[in-house]
Amino acid sequence: MSYDTPRLRLHDTADATATALLPGDGELSLFGCGPMPASAPHIGHLAQFVGTDVLRRTLHWLGTPTRFLLAVPDLTVPPAPQAPTGGVPWAPAAHAGSDQSRAERHAAMLHDDLLALGVLPPEQRLTSTAVGLVIDFVRKLERAGFTYRLDSGVYFDTGRLTEFEVFGDPGSDVRAVRARTETDHRRRHPDDFALWRAGDWRDLRARRWASPWGPGRPGWHISCSAIAATLGARIGVHVGGEAQRLHHHPAEIAQSEALLPAGARWVGKWMHHAPLRTGAEELRRAAGAPSLADLRGAGFHPLALRVLLLRGHYRARPPFTLDALSQAQHALVELATLARSARLQEPPDWGEARERTDGKAGARLLTRFTDALTDDLDTATALTVLEEALHEPDRDPGGLVSSVADHVLGLHLATADTVVDAIPPISG
Ligand SMILES: [Zn+2]
Repeated sequence: MSYDTPRLRLHDTADATATALLPGDGELSLFGCGPMPASAPHIGHLAQFVGTDVLRRTLHWLGTPTRFLLAVPDLTVPPAPQAPTGGVPWAPAAHAGSDQSRAERHAAMLHDDLLALGVLPPEQRLTSTAVGLVIDFVRKLERAGFTYRLDSGVYFDTGRLTEFEVFGDPGSDVRAVRARTETDHRRRHPDDFALWRAGDWRDLRARRWASPWGPGRPGWHISCSAIAATLGARIGVHVGGEAQRLHHHPAEIAQSEALLPAGARWVGKWMHHAPLRTGAEELRRAAGAPSLADLRGAGFHPLALRVLLLRGHYRARPPFTLDALSQAQHALVELATLARSARLQEPPDWGEARERTDGKAGARLLTRFTDALTDDLDTATALTVLEEALHEPDRDPGGLVSSVADHVLGLHLATADTVVDAIPPISG
């Protein structure tokens, strides 16, 4: 007997509605921009990857393969040097390597943190210094008439667009941010941004590449569009953080849609993750946001952070506190202990799970689990179903729903011994 596979409804930031995600035949393409590499990844950066991971795992379980391409920024912002004074020139090459090696180190840390959080690796990664792709893309924009040149670089002409800032809210500081990152006041329009930067005094310490426009480096936004184009002219879901929503993503849209037929949308759905906050404050490195290593040092298992994130919603996260993390760790230990006797198994896909529970105990839990996740990824309810299934094994014969929920939520309780043993006792 076959059943109609449920459709996942996903909120789209572009039109503020949740509608069914309709993958065409074959796999769904996903694209995401990684955090800027100027500082080591902190848990605010990691949170959005857990949300995206649940999206991918849910789709896989429902029978839709995904192709997730992660753009890993590895272009650093060189620190502004002291303006040369008193005739003493600063040495441009003195720090050329250090920023870059730090960026590479931070990209490696991100990779390790995501593994520790049980995040499925992306199918593909490309770094923002994929300069060949960038040059090809800028040339296409040039041929399409969307660029102009100044001696500081090649610029995107937003005056050619009928609309910009699709996610803009009144009162946002988008223009102020743009003015800080785009310093050439001869730009035709305040929204215009660099596609290719010729070296200016601040860029001299950064890496430079040969290009048809002279030596320079990609602008802040172009790498994402150039990299994403390797997935095809259109992408299924673009994921990202709230911080990228106002400033960076509109630039990506402008660049990518400039090469599409008029009126065509580049992205099927925009999935923006809410930032992690402590109270009213967004977690930022400058404000002391902890890294995963900091949490480990304080006695927390990485998966405790995953439980904490699953207890919220990717678009409305509860405040991050150490107290909430302690509670999540207690819940993780309890789940892992129960999972030892539940004999978790290789999880069946949705169709097989539906068939095996049909008319039996377990059907209701499976339905609740499916309904929760297909309703814009309601992980908090889905996690409750897992807790009920493990606490009341009579309602989940053979541990079938537990096995599915463990896998789709990415908790890895099947290796419960390792999880429990790795957690040091918490005092208090
Ligand atoms: Zn991007």
